Amino acid sequence: MISRRSLLFAGATALGGAALSGRAWADAPAAVRGVLVQEAGAAARVTVALERQVQARTFFLESPHRFVIDLANTRLALPQGASGEGPGAGFIRRYRYAPQADGAARLVLDLEAPAELLRQEVGGRRSPDLSFDLAPTVPFAPAQPREGARTGRRTIVVDAGHGGRDPGAVGVTGVREKDVVLDAALHLRQALESRGRYRVALTRDADRYVPLEDRVRFARAQHADLFISIHADANANTAAQGASVYTLSERGQARAQNMAQNWDIDFGDAPRAGGVQDILLDLYQRETTNRSAQFAQVVIPRLGQVAPLLRNTHRNAGLYVLLAPDVPAVLIETGFLSNATDERRLADPRARQAMAEAMAQAVDAYFAAPQLMAARA
Ligand SMILES: [Zn+2]
Repeated sequence: MISRRSLLFAGATALGGAALSGRAWADAPAAVRGVLVQEAGAAARVTVALERQVQARTFFLESPHRFVIDLANTRLALPQGASGEGPGAGFIRRYRYAPQADGAARLVLDLEAPAELLRQEVGGRRSPDLSFDLAPTVPFAPAQPREGARTGRRTIVVDAGHGGRDPGAVGVTGVREKDVVLDAALHLRQALESRGRYRVALTRDADRYVPLEDRVRFARAQHADLFISIHADANANTAAQGASVYTLSERGQARAQNMAQNWDIDFGDAPRAGGVQDILLDLYQRETTNRSAQFAQVVIPRLGQVAPLLRNTHRNAGLYVLLAPDVPAVLIETGFLSNATDERRLADPRARQAMAEAMAQAVDAYFAAPQLMAARA
């Protein structure tokens, strides 16, 4: 959730064209759009949002322990009221930033312990942003652990689709989506709770109608680390068969941003003016979307071991239950009730239990190894 993340904001203002007269655009300093520091398992993740790709170098310093990110030809245009430092997250105590004489911008992260760089992304095809995962190399106990860190438990919200007066899809022999997905959700809760590492909350644990908005509100109120919505498909093409996994599409992201006032997010000291909070929301959302995609990537192969998969298994959609900007979320279509073979499989309690176990193993993988997570698509 937003409250356990800290952020630095360093200027939304685009550089004026007039200031660039006589210089090629490529030589103009890039602007940092914002910086996000978050916990990522035992590690901490630093994301630097940039308006375009820049050269970066990083290094560690000791006594005291620091991680330094130098961004060549980059400007930190500070909004009014922003200070040069702020609180961190996880074992990153705080951040500081300062312009350098050579036109570079320097971001210094003060660390509570010696650390190593687990993973870095240095700007891809779709995004110029930089992202670094740092982990302490010695056991580190936070001075004031948040609840999840203290109990060592992650909160998973499991959402059984439909319910009550909404049966969802109905199979050729009358199998109802709302029944099989509830059973799968109950199996998933059992599988996760048996591990002793997760707190599990269900949006419904009985045949009850729950509006979509309430499901999303519930996940956010629970401070969910992951939201898994379980459904079963139906299609006019009765040959369509197999499971698929949905994460939020770009259009869905735009929709979520248009609903920003509904999300009631605490941006701390970030100024309201100048679109600053919009940019922060955008950062949160991109990070959440990356994480959702990472979970999709670990759950798909595991589902594939116990069920057939639809072609192009990982899909994007603007589904309402995926819209929360701060809760990584996937919607798993467990199969097609309109397909006779899939319907038989979904009607089989052992098959549903096997799928729930596959999902639970994916949850383990997702939280166990942040350094193994794939780069953003
Ligand atoms: Zn459904």
